[in-house]
Formats: sequence, structure tokens, C-alpha cells
Amino acid sequence: MEKRKIIEVKDLVKQYGDFTAVKGISFDVYENEIFGLLGPNGAGKSTTLEIIETLRDKTSGTVIVDGYDLDKDPESIKKLIGVQLQSSGYYPGLNLTELIELFCGLYNQEVNPKELLASFNLEDKAKAKYKELSGGQKQRFSIATTLINKPKIIFLDEPTTGLDPQARRNLWDLIQEVRAKGTTVVITTHYMDEAEFLCDRCAIVDSGRIIALESPDSLIDQLVAGGFERKKEVKKANLEDVFIHMTGKGLRED
Ligand code: ADP
Ligand code: MG
Repeated sequence: MEKRKIIEVKDLVKQYGDFTAVKGISFDVYENEIFGLLGPNGAGKSTTLEIIETLRDKTSGTVIVDGYDLDKDPESIKKLIGVQLQSSGYYPGLNLTELIELFCGLYNQEVNPKELLASFNLEDKAKAKYKELSGGQKQRFSIATTLINKPKIIFLDEPTTGLDPQARRNLWDLIQEVRAKGTTVVITTHYMDEAEFLCDRCAIVDSGRIIALESPDSLIDQLVAGGFERKKEVKKANLEDVFIHMTGKGLRED
């Protein structure tokens, strides 16, 4: 079956003053894939994401989301995407249930807060305030809230940065569940293990340019075919496996 393009980015450029942060990048995202923008800090990942999310103006280039042109119809794009808020975006006086009810009102959606919280392992936190949550819980809550307007695409900007290994793996599972329900996921990360685990395809971004765009498997195969060998003997486990084995998979934060 022909895969449908749900995002088309062509020759995207972003200048901040005389500094060019995004230097003419082009890529497509297919419907229902997990697509990654990988790159070191400062590569231009967040800038690219925020332009597609309609939160930042571009300098030039075209962006089409689900057939809508960003230049002509940003309002239609806003309706079909889910964007993670920064922590400052949550009213401090409201608990998680009240925040979900608020978003339901804003988006004119009927969502059961209890069910939504339960599907993100937050059922015990229904009466807690956002600032009282652990790092992993905050991330889970902000991903949950991206789903309230039943978006076709969600954008996650470094969702696991700063989390412990258990919370990271838990979040990976949740992201896969979101995709399994039909949502397209665009994620940025600078963790390559995360990209290898989650992404169907990824673009490697360096200094505002895409230097590779493939599935993690083909990127690795090409490197190996070129004669690359790891310096260290490859063991059957790594230190993170040891850590998870010793401390368990269960979340510790709750
Ligand atoms: P990433 O998310 O990959 O870390 P960003 O998109 O945040 O990268 O930033 C790309 C580059 O653009 C960086 O060099 C950053 O300092 C610069 N930059 C980002 N936002 C602004 C801004 N509002 N004004 C000026 N420079 C910015
Ligand atoms: Mg960033």
C-alpha cells in the first residue's frame, strides 16, 4: 500500500537575525509512523518542530500538514495536531483532573479525566497539582494532554530528557501505544538508543542541515557495510540493562 504523506517540508529556512538556524531542510513524514529528528543541542530540531506546529514563523520554504498549507491555513493545522506544553503552560492552581477539564472545554471535547489519567499511569495523581509531579509523571501528563483534541499528529520535543531509565522505558511504551491507536508521532531526541527503539525513520540534523534520513536499521547497516567496527567488544548487555535488572522495571516515582 502506498504510504500517505501527512507532513511535507520543503527547503525550510529559519534565520534569527543574521544567524541561520535551519538551512533549507526537506523531509516528509508518513501517516502513522514515528518519525525522529535527531541531533545535538543547537542543531535546529525545536525550531523546525515549532515552525510546523505554527508556533514560530519561518523565513522561507513550504510546510504542508495533512494537505493544509502552513502559509494559507495555519488554523486548520492547529486543529489536527497535539502539542506538548512547557510546564509554565499549566495553571498552577488546578489539579490534573481540573486541567484536563479545562482543555476539554477549550477544545470542545468530551474526555473522561479518570480514564485518560489511568491510561498514562497517573490514576493516583488525579488530585495532584502539576508542580507536585516527578519528571516522568510530568512528561506522561503533558503527553496525555496532547491527545485531548484527538489529534492526527503529536509533536514531542525531547520527551525523555532528564528521566531515569525506568521512566524513559515506560514513556517509550506509552509513545508506542499512542502510535498503535493511529496517531502519527514526530519526536526529537539526542538519545540514539531512544531513536533506535522508537523511530521508523529518522532524520539526522546537524547545524541546521539534514545529513541522513532513513530507518535506524538501514543507517546502521550502511555504516557496517562501509567497514565500521566498534572499538569495544560487543557484550550481550550494557550497563543500563544491569541497572534495570537490579533495580526493576517498576516506576519509582509514584
Ligand atoms: P535544538 O532544538 O536542536 O537544540 P534549536 O532549534 O533550539 O536547536 O536552536 C537552533 C539554533 O538556533 C541554536 O543555535 C539556538 O541558539 C538558535 N536559536 C533558537 N531560538 C532562537 C531565538 N529565539 N533567537 C536566536 N537564536 C535562537
Ligand atoms: Mg530543542
